[in-house]
Amino acid sequence: MEAVYHRYDAVIVGGGGAGLMAAVNLAGQEVAVLSKLYPVRSHTGTAQGGIGAALGNVEEDHWEWHMFDTVKGSDYLADQDATEILAREAVETVYELEHWGLPFSRTPDGKIAQRRFGGHTREFGKAPVHRSCYAADRTGHMILQTLYQQCIKNRVKFFDEYLVLDLLLEGQRTAGVVALSIADGQLHVFHAKAVLLATGGCGRIYQITSNAHALTGDGMALALRAGVPLEDMEFFQFHPTGIYKLGILITEGARGEGGKLFNGRGERFMERYAPTLLDLAPRDIISRAIYRELRQGHGVEGKWYVHLDLRHLGREVIETKLPDITDFVRTYLGIDPITEPIPVQPTAHYAMGGVPTDVSGRVVVDEKNTVLPGLYAAGECACVSVHGANRLGTNSLVDILVFGRRAGRDMGRYVGEAELPPLPAQPEERARALLARLREGPNGDGRAESVAALRDELQREMMDKASVFRTGESLAEVREQVRALQERYQQVRVQDRGWVFNTDLVEAVELGFLLDVAEVTVEAALARQESRGAHYREDFPQRDDVKWLKHSLGRRTASGALELSYKPVTITRFQPQERKY
Ligand SMILES: Cc1cc2nc3c(=O)[nH]c(=O)nc-3n(C[C@H](O)[C@H](O)[C@H](O)COP(=O)(O)OP(=O)(O)OC[C@H]3O[C@@H](n4cnc5c(N)ncnc54)[C@H](O)[C@@H]3O)c2cc1C
Repeated sequence: MEAVYHRYDAVIVGGGGAGLMAAVNLAGQEVAVLSKLYPVRSHTGTAQGGIGAALGNVEEDHWEWHMFDTVKGSDYLADQDATEILAREAVETVYELEHWGLPFSRTPDGKIAQRRFGGHTREFGKAPVHRSCYAADRTGHMILQTLYQQCIKNRVKFFDEYLVLDLLLEGQRTAGVVALSIADGQLHVFHAKAVLLATGGCGRIYQITSNAHALTGDGMALALRAGVPLEDMEFFQFHPTGIYKLGILITEGARGEGGKLFNGRGERFMERYAPTLLDLAPRDIISRAIYRELRQGHGVEGKWYVHLDLRHLGREVIETKLPDITDFVRTYLGIDPITEPIPVQPTAHYAMGGVPTDVSGRVVVDEKNTVLPGLYAAGECACVSVHGANRLGTNSLVDILVFGRRAGRDMGRYVGEAELPPLPAQPEERARALLARLREGPNGDGRAESVAALRDELQREMMDKASVFRTGESLAEVREQVRALQERYQQVRVQDRGWVFNTDLVEAVELGFLLDVAEVTVEAALARQESRGAHYREDFPQRDDVKWLKHSLGRRTASGALELSYKPVTITRFQPQERKY
């Protein structure tokens, strides 16, 4: 089949919050949004707890406090120029959503309601503050619907269920992408001046995760394969409260409303780990505390979970402020949170690292922040870096909207100035060869490998050896295992040979992305001999600002090996301090 060719000023890969916000801000240009999912099925739609902004609707609040909390939460690895933008522009972003019709929950006097969330404080750490703006526990759903409506109103062109397989560069400029139409197996070449990667996270590298099946790190891997480094991949956040064994998220909003954690002995163990903020300490701290309790045999009934107790909140609060999670718990566990505590364990949740960008969303490719013309990234697949070593709850929704908008605006500027570069010769060849190999393999010793088996092994090993706690030994082991899985991936063959909705083939492509992302994660984690934020090395338990107050960059060299380099952290207002809660 011949590929179909398209020409646009700008192509956005991803129809989640970041991609749609950029698209709204590019309205009027020739712009196409490509999404492997129908856009409103993107993971943004599952965000529960809220979006952080210092509106001060319930009590006094200031963007400086929000900025401080974000920097401290990041264990001082966030770039403070970007964090300042995040905290300042959060406020206007929430009002913009309100004006577009987003149905926020309300205070009795009609203002946008706000609740407490982990690590968000008043007066630089004194006590928890009400900062998270929410629409019950369906905030992300409402954001996604609101943005999609704006896109439809502005006649944004969508290509739904298109899986992007390759990023096209011509010399040192961006020239477009190649995508597979999942409905019929047709290859499409999108020739464009600018491309935004907004493909979301990569939580599926782990076994227990809150992330949807589609979160396979595609944009990160596409960038890596095009020679772009990935920044700070060693920092992967585990959210403390996933449903036991399933990983499905119970929002931190549940603790923001007053929910408490108990171990198997009925102790409020957070009193020992974070005496001021208790159950509202940042996620890295609570996840480690839970793991420590579990390792000491303090799980409930000796099992690998602790209890999240909401019972004292009463039926009305639980059913009106946390309706969706109440449903999840009833459906998946057969437990009623109004009368019983919920069994929870930490679940892989959020990639702090990603494709490095500046504050305009432009991808930067080295230690000197050299811009790659025409390539942009925003949202969870990007690293700007506002979250540093650990993200605070509610800050991702802010990030995707604030930096999605900035990326959209700068792309608008760029496509007005830049010329369309020529396409590389035979632009779809690499994508075609990849699909042919996965459909027709194996070519080695003749034994085909299965996608599901390889993916299971990857997820189990990553969970065991590169999650909440890590050591040099565990990381060295998992590095060898991931490399071996990469070799075996060359022998993968899918069973479905058709072209119509071949989800077998889609998963095979996604496994390749997962392996690339896992490889960089492990490489960077093995190199970083300190503990900071979500990266906790049992063999190096202290933070080491002298040697390690820097961002990592992991790049694939021409020989296929991974190479690490580092770049400095931007510090403006807040000098690194000891992190106590
Ligand atoms: C259960 C859950 C609850 C959360 N709750 C909160 C919260 O309350 N507050 C908060 O701040 N954060 C929350 N987060 C985090 C936050 O929701 C996400 O980080 C954020 O929504 C990511 O947005 P995004 O636009 O970057 O990506 P996504 O919304 O994940 O969208 C990614 C898009 O990329 C497309 N895509 C991916 N790969 C390809 C490809 N190869 N080709 C074409 N298209 C592709 C997908 O189709 C999708 O449209 C939560 C996360 C989870 C998992």
